[in-house]
Amino acid sequence: MKDIPVESLIILSNSSTIIETTSNPSYYDKITRSINIDNKIEQFKLKYPKEIFTKEELWPFAKALVTAHTPSDYDPLKYFKITQADLLKGVCCPSCSILPMIRLHGNWQCSVCMYNCKDAHIRALQDYKLLISDTITVREMCSFLGMSSRYSAYRLIRAMSLCHSGGTKGREYFL
Ligand SMILES: [Zn+2]
Repeated sequence: MKDIPVESLIILSNSSTIIETTSNPSYYDKITRSINIDNKIEQFKLKYPKEIFTKEELWPFAKALVTAHTPSDYDPLKYFKITQADLLKGVCCPSCSILPMIRLHGNWQCSVCMYNCKDAHIRALQDYKLLISDTITVREMCSFLGMSSRYSAYRLIRAMSLCHSGGTKGREYFL
């Protein structure tokens, strides 16, 4: 049995999460955002420069981890006892958070703060994936993003290069 160092690290994927501690400042070293993963791994490499396992020896561990992975079956709508109809639809303004932004000349525009951007729908589709489904049809996208033009919705989907299943009618795209 090889003697290997064990480190713990809590990675927060939500960039808007606030990290605060009132007790031990060393917690900041153990809790970090996903954007810092590379830095943390580099720190560990400097701390433990001696290679204990070769890549070939690590392969069975990697395979076991992937095999043991179970996808989350958490259903937020069920958990909060709400339905899809309770969700506010549309694209949220990244600047002032007002719903919905308006699709105008290939851009999303906020009618309150006039903020303009091309990719505000990405965040809305990430929400759709978390709240409703991993897949979306053009019709569902129009409804969720509040778009009247199916052609515009289709163009957005094409630009994202999403994989899809099914024929041209009712095709489902993987978010
Ligand atoms: Zn705005």
